Amino acid sequence: MTSSINPDRLSPALRTEALEQLLTERGLVDPAVMDKFISTYENDVGPLNGAKVVAKAWTDPEYRARLLAEGTGAIKELGFAGPQGEHIVVLENTAALHNVVTCTLCSCYPWPVLGLPPSWYKDPVYRARIVREPRTVLAEMGLELVADVEVKVWDSSSEVRYLVLPLRPAGTEGASEEELTALVTRDMMVGVAR
Ligand code: FE
Repeated sequence: MTSSINPDRLSPALRTEALEQLLTERGLVDPAVMDKFISTYENDVGPLNGAKVVAKAWTDPEYRARLLAEGTGAIKELGFAGPQGEHIVVLENTAALHNVVTCTLCSCYPWPVLGLPPSWYKDPVYRARIVREPRTVLAEMGLELVADVEVKVWDSSSEVRYLVLPLRPAGTEGASEEELTALVTRDMMVGVAR
């Protein structure tokens, strides 16, 4: 096949489309299966799964201990497992420690609990700056941390994905697990909100 198009000048979306077309033409992928897969992770699997995990950890101390000791297995107890979630490590925020997650290499993300990553997570600028100047980046995203809170940045990889266990909000002592689930956001579980 010859082509006068320089692939370096195509946008990632066009390159992806061209690649999908090529794979389809050669019978290597079934576009219907691919559409179903993308739709599942866009619509059915999302941060709500992670929010359920967090709410359970907030209300059940034994579950919380299992979750922090062995994230993947404890998450699977709630029925959440699958691609990009083979090894999930749960990071506990405390009054003195704030965890934030990135993938400096690409955009590794724990799909079974958070769905597909938001565009800012995949942005090379976020990925580079969150490592060099996490406090500044977090402040720009609306999270001002006082100086005595330590910030730890975790770099995901194809082997390990991270889920942040946020602090339970004050004043929620009487809240049910369902009510707590509604308070948990995706950004809290990536560590860019608290
Ligand atoms: Fe990655």
